[in-house]
Amino acid sequence: MAYDFDLYVIGAGSGGVRAARFAAGFGAKVAVAESRYLGGTCVNVGCVPKKLLVYGAHFAEDFEQASGFGWSLGEANFDWATLIANKDREINRLNGIYRNLLVNSGVTLHEGHARLVDPHQVEINGERFTAKHILIATGGWPQIPDIPGREHAIGSNEAFFLKELPKRVLVVGGGYIAVEFAGIFHGLGAKTSLLYRGDLFLRGFDGAVRKHLQEELTKRGLDLQFNADIERIEKQVDGSLKATLKDGRVLEADCVFYATGRRPMLDNLGLENTGVELDERGFVQVNDLYETTEASILAIGDVIGRVQLTPVALAEGMAVARRLFKPEQYRPVDYAMIPTAVFSLPNIGTVGLTEEEAKKNGHKVQIFESRFRPMKLTLTDCQEKTLMKLVVDADTDKVLGCHMVGPDAGEIVQGLAIALKAGATKRHFDETIGVHPTAAEEFVTMRTPVAD
Ligand code: FAD
Ligand code: NDP
Repeated sequence: MAYDFDLYVIGAGSGGVRAARFAAGFGAKVAVAESRYLGGTCVNVGCVPKKLLVYGAHFAEDFEQASGFGWSLGEANFDWATLIANKDREINRLNGIYRNLLVNSGVTLHEGHARLVDPHQVEINGERFTAKHILIATGGWPQIPDIPGREHAIGSNEAFFLKELPKRVLVVGGGYIAVEFAGIFHGLGAKTSLLYRGDLFLRGFDGAVRKHLQEELTKRGLDLQFNADIERIEKQVDGSLKATLKDGRVLEADCVFYATGRRPMLDNLGLENTGVELDERGFVQVNDLYETTEASILAIGDVIGRVQLTPVALAEGMAVARRLFKPEQYRPVDYAMIPTAVFSLPNIGTVGLTEEEAKKNGHKVQIFESRFRPMKLTLTDCQEKTLMKLVVDADTDKVLGCHMVGPDAGEIVQGLAIALKAGATKRHFDETIGVHPTAAEEFVTMRTPVAD
């Protein structure tokens, strides 16, 4: 049968754009549908605007520390509206770049909500198109628990477009987004509390990293409340919000921001017209080749709920494009040693196994740890400490994991990830000459294990 397209991609986010562009580059006839914004979550309401706001928040401490280096500044004033307007301008520019990338690579762009009509057919803006393969790359959406007063809370999508910076913010959650946004709001001057339901935030990260970040954020005056969960939210007559916690405490705020995970975006996608099945968590079920339970339909990125990171969605998009249209270049995505950063202030950078995972996996481990005051702070009153940690297999000498909390941890861990991917041993680290004077050199100068 002749199809309108070889590949029809639903969603022009990180994964969808990558798959569409490369498939078209390999000679396939490709269309991509986008209902909201080109570039998807990462470009519009994720990584990019988030990082810009983190940069914005960072200036507060730069100004404070400048006096130690002889600078005297007038009173610093922050204007939220300027930051948001400049951020929006930059995002508009990126949207244009994404449009050009798609069009210039020969992809047909359909702007509107796409719906599956059958395993080979998509409907968009009242028109129907057939395709040999359909790729679901529709991403995710913030998930806010169904508590009374939920309508008064916002999620990350709204946070990027607030008209003004709230004076008092309650951030709910203990994952990436909660920690990053608590740092943003706090850095920009809002009185911020982070409420997490468990004993310690960032479950799944190395224990030392979690503890260290807790201490550093507390030093900076961020109010961290663990074992705290909101039962209901009420709007008061003056427009402020009252949050009643499960333990009976009452907190007042101008904004309650939930960052409690993301669900797959499957709204009105028409999955019921196909044989696509969901896994037990509600994400699209795929095999190792990203094939769903419907032979002609594939899925990648956040909608499959494996690792919800942009570089992973990109790699999955690339793998699909290659396998379908350039099989001789196909390589499966390697999910081992994915480096990641939390852009909290200070940053977390991490790659490989945590100490807890390494032990659980049966490794006999050697731990190397270093805590120090970054050189930049020695002329300031700031008492912030950087943490670096290596998890090493005592039998093979292989470095199993690198973890850092400190300035530029995200930048530093990228290079370490290459070393770990190449199978570096602790001896390789020891034999590597440091770059002096940097914080990063500490990763090659830790000599004595702190614990076996
Ligand atoms: P998306 O980028 O979400 O793209 C899906 C697209 O599909 C969207 O544009 C959507 O509008 C469109 N769509 C959905 N349904 C339809 C339909 N029926 N028809 C047409 N179009 C449709 N990751 C990092 O690696 N680093 C970070 O620093 C980082 N920060 C983040 C910060 C925040 C606040 C958030 C929310 C996420 C962050 N992420 C980060 C995660 C990252 O954004 C996602 O992992 C990534 O965007 C997933 O890409 P995707 O292609 O699967 O989906
Ligand atoms: P995460 O899954 O990282 O964290 C969700 C948090 O919310 C956890 O602390 C979880 O607690 C808590 N939680 C879940 N349900 C509830 C509930 N009903 N009530 C109270 N607390 C709850 O999700 P995020 O929303 O922070 O981010 C989504 C994903 O986006 C991340 O996992 C990451 O993959 C990606 N991302 C990446 C970034 C980066 O690379 N820098 C930045 C931002 C997002 P518990 O641990 O107890 O389950």
